[in-house]
Amino acid sequence: MMDDNCIFCKLANGVFPTNKIYEDDEFTVILDINPANLGHALILPKQHYANLFEIDEEVAGRAMKLAKKVATIIKEELGCDGINVVQNNGIAAGQTVFHFHVHIIPRYDDDGCKIGWPQREVDEASLAEMTKRLAEKF
Ligand code: AMP
Ligand code: ZN
Repeated sequence: MMDDNCIFCKLANGVFPTNKIYEDDEFTVILDINPANLGHALILPKQHYANLFEIDEEVAGRAMKLAKKVATIIKEELGCDGINVVQNNGIAAGQTVFHFHVHIIPRYDDDGCKIGWPQREVDEASLAEMTKRLAEKF
């Protein structure tokens, strides 16, 4: 289902023009309008899912399979030094468009892009407690 208020629904389904590099029945892959580096691509499902928690798990699986293909083509064609695969969920995590999407970002040595987090110190007891707490939920 499309969401009439969602820009990525319109981009994924050809309502608005895009720089499209790939399309199939389920996904459209476009170039990001404000790329981290030229070639930065976005994998968009044609159906509306706000985020990873909403997306059908089979669709999510196929999105990751497509991410491998897109990343491989970009790496080979651009000759970049690396690729980041990024998928943000929630404002706190940097999501700005609330339609599930996967970023495929070509990276170059010393390109000045910052994708990261501080590496915090935690004590063994906290790690052990968190391990137990989460492992119990599967
Ligand atoms: P996120 O912060 O993970 O939600 O990423 C949203 C991304 O969508 C950003 O990298 C934007 O540059 C990109 N974006 C927003 N509007 C458009 C658009 N009309 N066409 C292509 N990319 C877009
Ligand atoms: Zn949407």
